[in-house]
Amino acid sequence: MIVRDKFYINGEWLAPVGEGVLEVVDASTEEIMGTVPAGVEEDANRAIEAAAAAFETWGMTTPKERQAYLQKLHTAMKARQDELGEVMAGEVGMPLGMAKAIQAGLPLQGVANFIKILDSYEFSDKLGNSEIIKEPVGVVACITPWNYPLHQIMAKVCPALAAGCTVVVKPSEVAPLTAFMLAEMVEEAGFPPGVVNVITGLGPVVGEAMASHPLVDMVSFTGSTRAGKRVSELASHTVKRVVVELGGKSASVILDDADLEDAVRGTVNDCYFNSGQTCAAHTRMLVPEAEYERAAKKAVEVAESLTIGQSHDPKAKLGPVITKTQQERVRSYIRKGVEEGAELLCGGAEQPEDLPTGFFIKPTVFGKVTQDMTIAQEEIFGPVLSILTYKDEEDAIRIANDTVYGLSSGVWSTDSDHAKKVARRLRSGNVIINGGGFNMMAPFGGYKQSGNGREHGPYALDDYLEVKSLQM
Ligand code: NAD
Repeated sequence: MIVRDKFYINGEWLAPVGEGVLEVVDASTEEIMGTVPAGVEEDANRAIEAAAAAFETWGMTTPKERQAYLQKLHTAMKARQDELGEVMAGEVGMPLGMAKAIQAGLPLQGVANFIKILDSYEFSDKLGNSEIIKEPVGVVACITPWNYPLHQIMAKVCPALAAGCTVVVKPSEVAPLTAFMLAEMVEEAGFPPGVVNVITGLGPVVGEAMASHPLVDMVSFTGSTRAGKRVSELASHTVKRVVVELGGKSASVILDDADLEDAVRGTVNDCYFNSGQTCAAHTRMLVPEAEYERAAKKAVEVAESLTIGQSHDPKAKLGPVITKTQQERVRSYIRKGVEEGAELLCGGAEQPEDLPTGFFIKPTVFGKVTQDMTIAQEEIFGPVLSILTYKDEEDAIRIANDTVYGLSSGVWSTDSDHAKKVARRLRSGNVIINGGGFNMMAPFGGYKQSGNGREHGPYALDDYLEVKSLQM
């Protein structure tokens, strides 16, 4: 049982003003694995004031000085990688081996990348008689979701610190435990007080206080489109910079010249990764009409080959979803899919017979899904794949683009020029061609209602910088 009862503010562990407590539940066992404080507005104010005071000096440090602090943070994190993985396997439910490699590995990669970026990033430029300088935005409120808890935090904290900003981190109330470990590692790395502050609490309480506060210069938000809109509204009153990374309903377009079996296997595995709780998951698989039967058969075969189990079961490839609420949400989408006439090819809304405990959802495949169905339009955030068919390539592009989202897409073709031609017509911030690997130096972000920022790599740094012109 992990009990956290203090916030990390101004380099100190302080008792919260709010007296409430939030429980953290192990997704596989349904047992309470920890508690954290439910902060209130006054807690957010204290953290923001500390960050604002620290910015006065941290904002004037050199890239080399900031690089040295990030290096120390990397060393502290590396030493605790396994422990971080253990905690997130509990909170999120991801199988332990994957949690250590992905949930704890990606944040480490993020820190390493920004250490490298600071070697060569140009913070100034000459343009005619002007010198253009890039300066840190100021105090950044980082509000993050639960699906990759520490990765989402570090996707904001790394570029913010590298730029010279100070931060107040508010992790998801559902998976907040590694944020406290981050605070310990920040302390160990010797960052000046107030540069990194960590508080917890509910979004409508602490998150809204952060988005509204006049001393916050920028809000970097990752989460649902609904909450992202609310944060943007609140932040508009003080004209803060707002960067939002939101939901998705990404399409995997399998072209008629693709290796069908390979493409279906790749799409199903992508859709179900982290039990479907990935913003960029390819949850709509688009196949040529003539290939429907073959694609459906292969998708079911892949889905049924995935062993589901508790996060500590070494055989498990797929864990539970994160909470009882999320399980209910996913189940209601599955029921809706059946009601609206989609063909349930495998899986379903019932608890798996051999796993009575844990928030499990069977890997589910729907066939004969049409664009007007709820399961083709709304983000489900669970292991649920929809197969749609298209008449020709124009039809495929139209269907792929026909949602309010635009985070990611996939294109499969044996001809890479053909794949790139189609990729250019997809309205999304990322296009994965033939299952291309995740590159954490490449910008990641959405078009349309999937957001407006770019995380990871050098492009992310731009979001945390103001641009000033000096006319000589
Ligand atoms: P959520 O919107 O419920 O919560 C995200 C964060 O926002 C949490 O810290 C929460 O406390 C806070 N929050 C909630 N309401 C708020 C409010 N009114 N004001 C201020 N803060 C508020 O999202 P979630 O359920 O934690 O995460 C799942 C969602 O996140 C999915 O929609 C997923 O697609 C999205 N996501 C997007 C990306 C991306 O990069 N685009 C990455 C991961 C997750």
